[in-house]
Amino acid sequence: MLIDLHTHSAFSPDAVDGVQTMIEEALGRGVEVLAITDHCDCNFWELPAPDTVRDREMYGVKYYAKASISRVDDMKKIYAGRINLLCGTELGQPLQNPDAAEKIVSDKRLDFIIGSHHMNRGKDDFYWLEYGKMDSSEIVSLLDDYFEEVLEMCRWGSFDVLGHLTYPLRYITERGRIEDVDMKRYEEPIREIFRTLIHNGKGIEINTSGLRQPIGKTLPELDYVKLYREMGGSILTVGSDAHKKGDIGAGIEEGIKIAKQAGFTHLTCFEKRSPNFISI
Ligand SMILES: [Zn+2]
Ligand SMILES: [Zn+2]
Repeated sequence: MLIDLHTHSAFSPDAVDGVQTMIEEALGRGVEVLAITDHCDCNFWELPAPDTVRDREMYGVKYYAKASISRVDDMKKIYAGRINLLCGTELGQPLQNPDAAEKIVSDKRLDFIIGSHHMNRGKDDFYWLEYGKMDSSEIVSLLDDYFEEVLEMCRWGSFDVLGHLTYPLRYITERGRIEDVDMKRYEEPIREIFRTLIHNGKGIEINTSGLRQPIGKTLPELDYVKLYREMGGSILTVGSDAHKKGDIGAGIEEGIKIAKQAGFTHLTCFEKRSPNFISI
């Protein structure tokens, strides 16, 4: 079964295709379960209105997060019986603006929430950081803060799965600085993240976007998915993180293979925030 629980429509500032275009493409590719999870980076909630800024990435989240939810919710009625469409969101940095996060997580139309951490407090998205100009200790300190803030978010726990754990490695690898990273340092923090998620009844995703990027691995990679399973984790989703229709379903088969290698027999799907399990 082709199931993709992490995709972005044009309601995300860094994605291009409309909701209906994404759904039609998914149908064409034989995707049976699709979640549209547009960005809601909570710390960007209060930026200016879209028509007052030139850079599309610099307008306030409040102007499009709800619009995405409304649009996907409408489409669920139109496409009922043809595709299992989940109304989702990718909630970024909820603790950097808890009031904004509350406005989104209380929306009863949502089926599924990915909790993600794209930027440390007071810093830009890991995507924008200039790793080439940093010394090793700065890279280590960025990662220390990353895992600490992810753990904090997991303790808060008002989401369904943790998005793309090890996200910064995608860009640290791409900019040639991965030799400066010793992941042994993060073994215990990662265990604590998994312990917390499991305790709170939350899960993780296998994000397959890394397979089409220089890092060449899922986020997180197999060893961490295995560890999560060994620790008792049962809630697992797979998503392409497509930002254009051409990437819908990309790497999902590989992601399912990794889930099986890690010992999973089921993936998780969500309806109105309740998990149900699909055998793989
Ligand atoms: Zn993300
Ligand atoms: Zn995403």
